[in-house]
Amino acid sequence: LLQLFIPLNNLGFVYREMRESLINIERMFGLLYQPPQVADRLDAVPLRGNGGEVAFEDVHFGYQPERPILHGVSFTVPRGHKVALVGPSGAGKSTIARLLFRFYDVDSGRIRVNGQDIRDVTQESLRAAIGVVPQDTVLFNDTIRYNIAYGNPEATEAQILDAVRRAHLDHFIEQLPNGLETVVGERGLKVSGGEKQRIAIARVLLKNPPLLVLDEATSSLDSASEQAILATLQEVAEDRTTLAIAHRLSTIRDADTILVLEAGRVVERGSHDELLARDGPYARLWHYQDRQQRLATNQETVAAR
Ligand code: ATP
Repeated sequence: LLQLFIPLNNLGFVYREMRESLINIERMFGLLYQPPQVADRLDAVPLRGNGGEVAFEDVHFGYQPERPILHGVSFTVPRGHKVALVGPSGAGKSTIARLLFRFYDVDSGRIRVNGQDIRDVTQESLRAAIGVVPQDTVLFNDTIRYNIAYGNPEATEAQILDAVRRAHLDHFIEQLPNGLETVVGERGLKVSGGEKQRIAIARVLLKNPPLLVLDEATSSLDSASEQAILATLQEVAEDRTTLAIAHRLSTIRDADTILVLEAGRVVERGSHDELLARDGPYARLWHYQDRQQRLATNQETVAAR
């Protein structure tokens, strides 16, 4: 999902990298990766209304015409609901999120936000309505303040402090020598995976978008940190229309609807309890990951002794 974030960030990032004239060529190539530009229609209008429903209607899509990835995906995320996408690696979960941002156009079918086909609205207004918490946040080599307020330069001090508190970053920042002015990133203070995610959460809180895309994978975190981040993400998702990409099933129990994706098709949908009772692909994934998680927790307990 990191790639979701790159097109939004890369201009500023590339500029900064060049300014600091320490260019890691390999990394630059990675960051300069850009999907083909999708152009606004000449008569594109700003997205109407404040967020609302997301609907995928029989969406077919492939990055290359000869290799279709999504084969008729349909689902709705009603206003304020949370839909979680689960399924094996390569099933198309991140692709669905990228299409919602309109980094690519669908081959057939339609994506609607608030009833409007996203091809009819300006990309600027569409992306302004969506916040993303990726699993691996790109941090600029700059202060924590800059990293949080990025994308919202008009944010007031009070708004920044409020986002810090709600993202539960306040204790972390209090311990730093320069507080919010502490420089983080590769050439600054190293921050943990969990702290990075909290910075991304603070960024989203400051942007205050009606739609949210969460990449809930927290594989780099131990289970206590994972639980803490998940609790914060639940607070952030409250009252927002949320599409969550889940790699670990334990993170999606609270979703209103779970979509199980396999090879670009929705093969099951329902609540956690319904899907467990059905004893199909979701139940198999669940039992498998439940065992894995128990093993990992046991290992953590042994290591902590
Ligand atoms: P994961 O759980 O591993 O993140 P995913 O379900 O999110 O997987 P996607 O990233 O959506 O899967 O990928 C779906 C398919 O699309 C994969 O076969 C992948 O190789 C292919 N794919 C993804 N991005 C591109 C791209 N930019 N160009 C071509 N093919 C791509």
